Amino acid sequence: MTEPPTNGLQFAHDLARLREHLEHAGNEYLPIEHQSAAAAGFLKVINELTTGADPTAAVARAMATYFRVDEAQRAHVAATEARRQREEQDLEAEEEITRKVECPDCGAAAGLRCKGTGASGGLKKKSHRARFRLARQLTDRKGTTS
Ligand SMILES: [Zn+2]
Repeated sequence: MTEPPTNGLQFAHDLARLREHLEHAGNEYLPIEHQSAAAAGFLKVINELTTGADPTAAVARAMATYFRVDEAQRAHVAATEARRQREEQDLEAEEEITRKVECPDCGAAAGLRCKGTGASGGLKKKSHRARFRLARQLTDRKGTTS
C-alpha cells in the first residue's frame, strides 16, 4: 500500500473540515433519530488517534461510542413503533364502538363503514363525527355495566 503524501497544512485543514462535518452529523444534542452513530464513532477514533492514544484503546472507545448511539436509536425506533401500535389499537377499539350505531350523517348501517370518507386518511377518518358522538351518547346512557 502506498501512503498518500502528507502535507502538514493540508492535513490540518482537512482534519478541521472533517471534524466539523462529523461533529455536525454526530451531534449528541440532536434528537437521537438524527444522530449518526458512524459519524460519532469516526470522530471518536480520529480525536483519540490525533491526541496520541493507543490505537487499540482508540478503536475500543470509538466502538463504544458507535454502539451507544446505535443502541439508543434502536430503542427509540422500538418505542416509537410500540406507541404507534398502541394508538392504532385504541383507534380500532374506538371505531368498533362507533360502528355499532347507524351513521346519522351518511346513513351507513350498523356494522358498515361510513360512505364517502374514503380509504385514505387512516383510521381517524373512518367514521363521521356525528356517528362517533352518537355511539358515545348511547354507550353513556346504557352505562358501563356491560
Ligand atoms: Zn357516516
